[in-house]
Amino acid sequence: MNARLQEMSVKKNPDWEGLRKDFPILNQKVHGHPLVYLDNAATSQKPRVVLESLDHYYEKDNANVHRGIHELSNRSTVSFESARTRTAQFLGADSPEIVFTRGTTESINLVAQAWGAKHIRAGDTILLTEMEHHSNIVPWQMLAERVGAKIRWLPVTGDEGLLDLGRLDEFLTRDVKLFSFTHISNTLGTVNPAAELCERARKLGIVTLLDAAQSAGHCPLDVREIGCDFLAFSGHKICGPTGIGVLYGRQQLLEETPPWQGGGEMILNVGFDKTTYKKPPHRFEAGTPDISGAIVLKTALDYLDGIGRENIFQHDQELASHAYDGLAALGGIRIFGPKKGRAGLVSFLLNDVHAHDVVTFADQRGIALRGGHHCNQPLHKKLGIESSARASFYFYNTKAEVDRLIEVIRETQKFFGSPR
Ligand code: PMP
Repeated sequence: MNARLQEMSVKKNPDWEGLRKDFPILNQKVHGHPLVYLDNAATSQKPRVVLESLDHYYEKDNANVHRGIHELSNRSTVSFESARTRTAQFLGADSPEIVFTRGTTESINLVAQAWGAKHIRAGDTILLTEMEHHSNIVPWQMLAERVGAKIRWLPVTGDEGLLDLGRLDEFLTRDVKLFSFTHISNTLGTVNPAAELCERARKLGIVTLLDAAQSAGHCPLDVREIGCDFLAFSGHKICGPTGIGVLYGRQQLLEETPPWQGGGEMILNVGFDKTTYKKPPHRFEAGTPDISGAIVLKTALDYLDGIGRENIFQHDQELASHAYDGLAALGGIRIFGPKKGRAGLVSFLLNDVHAHDVVTFADQRGIALRGGHHCNQPLHKKLGIESSARASFYFYNTKAEVDRLIEVIRETQKFFGSPR
């Protein structure tokens, strides 16, 4: 079922307070205050069903996949492969187009090292944007250095944090072989028009990679509707465990891509003189995969689709705009990213207070924020800053928590005598 059809079968107005109770970790005090977890862009918390699914796997079914003939190995293999089918459905893709990886970072490295090394040559251009995460910068820099390619950067407009789409034609030129960009910026909260960008690239035969680390599990995603060639996301940011991630690759592109890591599982036949390889996706999964991770990821995807990604997106947006308005009303604060249409996160900087001080002050009051460059160093440099504080939301966060954040930021300003 494609993502949109799936959404239609989900009810509007989920019981958000009830869902929050699914997350045992949220029910605790930190430094004597109720925990307010607002670091979801770094990693999400896990609902009880996900934790139980991990226990179930190790208590009942644990065995290696694709190898044994015995019952446990069969069960494990069936569950692992059905996790692939479910992930494909989650993205509107076909099962062979889903490669399990360690996360977004590894997925992008796979494309850079395997597809990129074959298709990108000296003098070619790789197009990125100024808002990319280091995971979507460094693998391309490594490749560019290796093959002698160039990297160009589609500009961001400034604090408003939009891609400068008016200049797209200047950057989408015939020498560009790959355009890799983030769907949602993990610092700015900008939601990029992925389908439009992919269409513009496709017209020039440019391959596209969508970094969906911040969008998978936060909004409906359908690779056919978006029209991207590759897409990467991480399980741990969407209620799944750490250590599992996904690379979607359009079948024809995966077929053309040579293996990257060698070892067991990815071969058809190994001889003393020559080895032949399996077809995708198994060609890209050398060695024992993260079996439990994939199986538990499936539980997370089922859980999220039970809530409805459209509902989650709306809830994220409501919290983010409530936070934006509340913070802006304090004065003496610089908020990054668009005012309207932003995803569920807000990065900001108080006049004359270091982001780390803001985060430490908030932590002492039970609020988990993130402070630093959020693996967006070039973007921070472009904005003329070294770091920012970030509050990032998920569906289990509440308006009351956002109000608490605003109250604590007001206290922070008072404490540090931050000028308005
Ligand atoms: N891209 C973006 C936009 C991200 O926000 C992140 C994680 N912060 C990543 C890539 C990397 O994800 P991971 O560390 O799970 O590989």
